[in-house]
Amino acid sequence: MEYIKTMMFNPKIVARFLTFSLISIIILVFLFSTNSALFAQIANHKGKIMILEYHKIDYPEGRWTRTPQNFRRDLERFYVKGYQLIRLGDFLEGKIHVKKGKTPLILTFDDSSPGQLRFIPDGKDGYRVDPNCAVGILESFYASHPDFGLAATFFVLPAANPPNRLFNQPEYAHEKLRYLVRKGFEIGNHTYWHATLSKMNSEGVKRQLGLAVKAIQEVISGYSPRALSLPMGIYPKDKTTLLQGSYDGIPYKHAGIMMVSGGPAVAPDHPSFDPLYIPRIQAVEKEITYWLRYFDKHPEERY
Ligand SMILES: [Zn+2]
Repeated sequence: MEYIKTMMFNPKIVARFLTFSLISIIILVFLFSTNSALFAQIANHKGKIMILEYHKIDYPEGRWTRTPQNFRRDLERFYVKGYQLIRLGDFLEGKIHVKKGKTPLILTFDDSSPGQLRFIPDGKDGYRVDPNCAVGILESFYASHPDFGLAATFFVLPAANPPNRLFNQPEYAHEKLRYLVRKGFEIGNHTYWHATLSKMNSEGVKRQLGLAVKAIQEVISGYSPRALSLPMGIYPKDKTTLLQGSYDGIPYKHAGIMMVSGGPAVAPDHPSFDPLYIPRIQAVEKEITYWLRYFDKHPEERY
């Protein structure tokens, strides 16, 4: 007891105690702040990701058409709001990597219409990409904003009637597929000719999916589309044929089946993720504005 009393009123010990307390507080504050910074770098795995679905890039603006100017403006808006492009294939594999503070965003284009990828004949190299088509706009935006990334999936139609057969320049059709893959874009399955799958039996569905893969592989050997976009969002009666199967010895395997609507998507590690039903957002003015505002108001829901 005598010892404790002495200690309590010894000014040296009191000073040491105060110093110790102060250092402890400093250490705690430091640990807290570094931990907060650490947490800020960890993605919000419960968050949602916008998978945008574009159709025509052309004139005039319409229900299924975005003008080149509006498409360029979309990219500007995404960039300013902190979005960064990732590949759909990477998303489906759960490889969702963006820079600190950025939100992943996925672009998809359905129907291989002419304004998505147009080549202009050029004497020197044979061709150049039209700066006013979707790929041209994406590439020039990436050149001036490299941290935005360069990625998009093109759900192509190898046997549709013109103008939707592989971007509508038959002389360049194969080179366009090779160009996309060379530049890091992805090619997706959208059936052989935009088939209404609900009208087909299992064999018919497999035929549509397998023939599309065959046509792509005839140009790029071994290329296997990672995703299927359902024409008009219509499912066949037997959905088991969608994820994997084979037709006439041509196997296909899709990690995700893309719907035509449904809002933003959860990531593959989310309990409610279902590869058969991956929602997308139609890339029209109203929808884009709605969802950008939504995530501005609810940043905690951003991935
Ligand atoms: Zn379509």
